Amino acid sequence: MTTTSPSTDTTPRVWIGCLACYNAGRLVGDWFDATTADEVTTYDVHGAHSRADSHDELWVFDHENIPVRGEMDPLTAAAWGRCLAEVDERLRPALCVWVESGDYVAESTGDLPSISDFEERYQGHWDTFAEYAENLADDIGLLAGVPEEIARYFDWRAWSRDLAFDYSTYDDPEGGVFVFRDL
Ligand SMILES: [Zn+2]
Repeated sequence: MTTTSPSTDTTPRVWIGCLACYNAGRLVGDWFDATTADEVTTYDVHGAHSRADSHDELWVFDHENIPVRGEMDPLTAAAWGRCLAEVDERLRPALCVWVESGDYVAESTGDLPSISDFEERYQGHWDTFAEYAENLADDIGLLAGVPEEIARYFDWRAWSRDLAFDYSTYDDPEGGVFVFRDL
């Protein structure tokens, strides 16, 4: 099993700007940690010259490391940030790929993924599905007690292919695959 490089930055971030300024043709805003996106105030984006009267609506115009497309309101961004923060940093790329696949388990309401369902299904990051399959065979003792001169005729390719029907595998852009058990 391999792990995604720890140097890969997975922190969910949002670019929060003032909607009134945006509508007036000015980009006034900054990048913030998504987990506290709902705590950003109009003062935070305007600085000392805050015009709180008519410039009180904030909007997330851009974001990174959040597995959905498009703009959103700061409350939604904060919900995503806190959801993603629930899993270890090294697992976040797998969680994002799972959500982006569209074939994930959501929490009862909305689009947020169920972390417990993610943890139940995710089987790790592997070079190939076949590598996962051979490792699983070892773990469950598939060929335990079978004499070596017979075991070497075992059809790994066919076994791995059949096993794959019970799994979903997603490519990692950085290399390798994320393996999920279908439940
Ligand atoms: Zn403004």
